[in-house]
Amino acid sequence: MPDALQVIEPATEAVLDTVPRAGTAEVDEAVARARGAFPAWRALTPSARAEHLRALVVVLEEHHEELALLEARNAGKPIGDARGEIGMAIETFRYYSAAPERLLGETIPVAGGEAFTVREPLGIVGLIVPWNFPLTIAAWKLAPALAAGNTTVLKPAELTPLSAIRFGELALEAGLPEGVVNVVAGPGSTCGKRLVEHPDVAKIAFTGSTEVGRSIAAGAAQTIKRVTLELGGKSANIVFADADLERAAAQAPGAVFGNAGQDCCARSRILVEASVLDRFMALLEEHVSAIRVGDPLDPDTQMGPLISAAQRASVASFLEDGDPVAFRGSAPDGAGYWFAPTILGPVARDARVAREEVFGPIVAVLPFADEADAVALANDSIYGLSGSIWTRDGAKALRVARAVDSGVLSINSNTSVRVATPFGGFKQSGYGRELGPHATDAYSEVKSIYFSTS
Ligand code: NAD
Repeated sequence: MPDALQVIEPATEAVLDTVPRAGTAEVDEAVARARGAFPAWRALTPSARAEHLRALVVVLEEHHEELALLEARNAGKPIGDARGEIGMAIETFRYYSAAPERLLGETIPVAGGEAFTVREPLGIVGLIVPWNFPLTIAAWKLAPALAAGNTTVLKPAELTPLSAIRFGELALEAGLPEGVVNVVAGPGSTCGKRLVEHPDVAKIAFTGSTEVGRSIAAGAAQTIKRVTLELGGKSANIVFADADLERAAAQAPGAVFGNAGQDCCARSRILVEASVLDRFMALLEEHVSAIRVGDPLDPDTQMGPLISAAQRASVASFLEDGDPVAFRGSAPDGAGYWFAPTILGPVARDARVAREEVFGPIVAVLPFADEADAVALANDSIYGLSGSIWTRDGAKALRVARAVDSGVLSINSNTSVRVATPFGGFKQSGYGRELGPHATDAYSEVKSIYFSTS
């Protein structure tokens, strides 16, 4: 019997729940269940698999509020945000419920016969997810993996296992066969590592830190596993002097203080054309000072606590580097891993806060001289995940969007993720793409078949 994993509520620091802590033995059991379920799941007709995913959507919709509450309490996120995130998870299953019937191949002209391709599932896929968007990120992986005919072992982060565990129960309630979705809640160092090393696991889809991503890529190499990695970011929000500054400043806080900054897409560097720096800073401060930090279950709350004491200490260390503090907001006292929204700026280009992922509510503001300088500064990073460009000059917006080395960019908007469009990083933000019409490619192999007509 595994020992217990205590789940803490970040807003109160109290124990929210206690669940069995999975270890290597539980991973092996889960993989064995997934292996047992694979032949029948793979053999289902496309329409039958689609029907299962549609049934899952119905059950998830019935439990939307329950899952949102669980996520809000376990991850410390505002209830309104949690509702939206669970909504996106459900939308992801809805989107991929159409995919089993659209796993298309090609016919290829060759001599002496006919050649064509088909898509085959990989087999058992291991899905390792972080604590910042627990069920949403799990859904990005589960939905296309299941649609493509794989069976799955999902490992949530040890800090936020509750929505994944509940999801596993709901999948059974929706009628998915035993063993198609397996959840192992345990530490990365044992449970995650075993999943990466397990010889029966064909692929690891990982979202998390760049550091752990490196070790996963290395570990997976031993058994030539397929790997997709969604890693860290240091995304730039580029504000040109000709932008609608009011709108850019109003939206910037959401793009970096959303989820208390614990967002891989956080635009934690705001690059501002030097000629409008003072005006933009004043507008930004006005909007950041209006952020309501507090109880995640209060519907008016816009920012909750950080996930843990360790995360708060890591974020706080960025205040010790001596960068100029332009604004520091307020946060509740007492229990809870609170951290006030903070603007640092103007900061130097080599400052740690300008280069490293903070994963908390601190934004660094940096001035730039012109378009070329903005692009150079945006690209001066080991990361390349997301970003925004604010300007009224459409041609400039498109030039900059093409020149910035980043997987996802938005123009005059702070959004990054849509179910229907590909999401993923350049450079050390990872490789592979999730979401969008091609995500099933990452969970299937191309098989080429030649049929002789001679
Ligand atoms: P993390 O890398 O510490 O952990 C992520 C997951 O990996 C957890 O489930 C953890 O238990 C597991 N893990 C840890 N060590 C492991 C090992 N040796 N082998 C196998 N699994 C292991 O990340 P985190 O702290 O949970 O999340 C924050 C990070 O995730 C940030 O860097 C953030 O940028 C990144 N992130 C990226 C995206 C994206 O889509 N690019 C999205 C969200 C978060």
